[in-house]
Amino acid sequence: MKRREFIILTGSGAASTTLLSGCGHPENTLIPALIPDETTIPGVDYWKAGTCALCPAACGIVVRTREHRASKIEGNPLHPVNRGALCARGQAGLQVLYNPDRIKSPMKRTGERGSGRFEPISWEEAIKTLAEKLNDIRSRNLNGSVVFSMGAALNVNRIAAEHFMDAYGSSRLVTTPLSGDDRAVGYASAGGQAPVFDIANATYLLSFGARFLETWQSPVMYSLAYGDFRRGHGRKRGRFVMVEPRMSVTAANADEWAPAAVGSEGLFALAIAQVIVREKLVPNAAPPNLASGSLDDYAPEKTAAQIDVPAERIIRIAREFAEAERPLAICGGAATLDEDGENAKAIHFLNRLVGNLNKPGGVLQTDRFDPIAGLRPAKPANWTPLSGASGYKDGGSALLIHGMNPAHFAPDLRDQIKAFGYIASFSPFLDETTELADLILPDHSYLESWDLYAAAARRTEKRAESRELKVGTLPFASVASPVVPPEFDTKQTADVLIQVSRELGQTLPFESAEDFVKKAVPSVRKAMGQAAELTEEEWSSLAETGVLLVEHGAASSTAESDSAKAADEKIAIGPAIEENKRDDYPLYILAYEHAALGHGEHANLPWLQELPDPMTTVIWGSWVEINPKTAAALRIKDGDLVEVRTPAGAATLPAVFYPGIRPDVIATPYGQGHTSFGQYAGGRGINPAQLGLAYGNGARSSDSRARVTIAGGESRLVRFGTSLPEKIDTPR
Ligand code: SF4
Repeated sequence: MKRREFIILTGSGAASTTLLSGCGHPENTLIPALIPDETTIPGVDYWKAGTCALCPAACGIVVRTREHRASKIEGNPLHPVNRGALCARGQAGLQVLYNPDRIKSPMKRTGERGSGRFEPISWEEAIKTLAEKLNDIRSRNLNGSVVFSMGAALNVNRIAAEHFMDAYGSSRLVTTPLSGDDRAVGYASAGGQAPVFDIANATYLLSFGARFLETWQSPVMYSLAYGDFRRGHGRKRGRFVMVEPRMSVTAANADEWAPAAVGSEGLFALAIAQVIVREKLVPNAAPPNLASGSLDDYAPEKTAAQIDVPAERIIRIAREFAEAERPLAICGGAATLDEDGENAKAIHFLNRLVGNLNKPGGVLQTDRFDPIAGLRPAKPANWTPLSGASGYKDGGSALLIHGMNPAHFAPDLRDQIKAFGYIASFSPFLDETTELADLILPDHSYLESWDLYAAAARRTEKRAESRELKVGTLPFASVASPVVPPEFDTKQTADVLIQVSRELGQTLPFESAEDFVKKAVPSVRKAMGQAAELTEEEWSSLAETGVLLVEHGAASSTAESDSAKAADEKIAIGPAIEENKRDDYPLYILAYEHAALGHGEHANLPWLQELPDPMTTVIWGSWVEINPKTAAALRIKDGDLVEVRTPAGAATLPAVFYPGIRPDVIATPYGQGHTSFGQYAGGRGINPAQLGLAYGNGARSSDSRARVTIAGGESRLVRFGTSLPEKIDTPR
């Protein structure tokens, strides 16, 4: 065994000795503290900037590090999206980095596919194995049957994947399914670019199911905006009305909750529009472009029974909305479960009706800001959202998968995934899809990676001389360099793809993920009207701040070019309720995104598992919410185990009495039901996909019906502040 010589400094001088060899060789951990590298001073902490990757909002973060260990994540005060704030998911990022279930090195399959049996291999072998497999496929002219399937974030790994596939000769690029929230936001602009909703400056906010304080779009940015909306900075406090069948945390913060019937949100919006037009509440109000019938067919007096909200109340909300100084309508959640997006079209029509596009308190069409477009392949990559059978249909010769776990969110796809001849996963965790892989090449966590994210945020400016409120967009780029060295023997996927490309004789336009970021930053600066090249000083300042902003220039309102296109869209709202399904399945069932665990992608983070759901206080599990009146009729008691059955399947769940839900609706959160994904996630709760409520399948909410019966047996429900914590499952 190699021994090390240390110099020990004492009061009487220095002595050379051999020590510590009898203590199990702890010198390997002591050496870094004794001989620090030039970027480390023992005992001194550094705050390093990065970008949160735990939802698409991409908030700026700063991470406290000491001796190459990260100990705290906070919001970056310089970042225009979150301005120093951070949500619970963002705080839990440390548990992504130090998670004991991370895959610690490349692995190859040793058992049957899906058996979860793998053995560690070297990176050299892993890269060679993948290159040989892809080379073999290419030699048989089957390049086009190789699929790259990747999460939606537009980052360095994704751009590397685009170049990789372009060079390899396959255009089968599949990304995550579009959520109802994303589809709904798309309809707000009809221009393809997600707009920003100026909640901060609105005076009347009408949200149809958009849970912007929890999960919708950019929760930290909109929570801050909501604070401005409520405080108003000397203005009148804004009024907030929430329309949704189940009271979410966001609805609990509203002035008024209108529990409209499931699927009736589009009807509700058209009823409001009808009142505004018939009472001429806004000048020159043009009716919507309806696929059939006339707007008068949607008068509250005719539709109130279907919406299940009294006509007088709809009329009052319509008047309040139209007469407000700056009204704004948004939609998401339960209002966007219809695949064709008719509800969202009707709701966003309200914004056009009151003319709030690109106005303070309205819908801000963001400028297109894509300064790294020049670094992407010349032929634009077309990422198709995975929906139903598309994307994986009939399998193919190989599936490369990163940042997606379709075998969990849509278990029906397992057979299609298994139909691929070869599967390579870049996941850092052994999730349900990675279990099906032949080869695992684990990615770094986002705190160990290079990355760059460019977008535009909301900008508000008050002209002192005129007191005029001017709104527009603010281009920015978040730059992330590794906050800590890799914890395990992992590699950033962009770097792996570059190395596999070299083995295949392909050339990618950058040498590494770091090289990409260093090439991209000058392009971003140029797009912002700054000198492209950075001095050494500017580089270190950028590493500290983590964000590039436009230094000068006034906020500008953007053109209304998309409004004409949106006005042409036809709205086809059908009946909200399908009576014929009532007998066997008398209740509607909703599955909603868990505020902390998302659709299950964060179920392996114990801090988030331990975070009580704000409305039910449940932790570490799944539950079904049921109105106490409905429960009484079914003789169900709070906490009883019940069987929830839908035409697609059944699940056994603890019942939670929830007065804030319509009596004809039950609801259950996404987040749990993993069959693998580590000791904190696996074998806990249920996956709503087993009830036919697969995330992103776009099923109409009116198709999602259920019946509930008492199942018997002991409930394992754990709620915060009760005497039940001893029932927390012991992690496997
Ligand atoms: S909203 Fe939360 S999870 Fe999403 S990027 Fe911001 S801090 Fe991260």
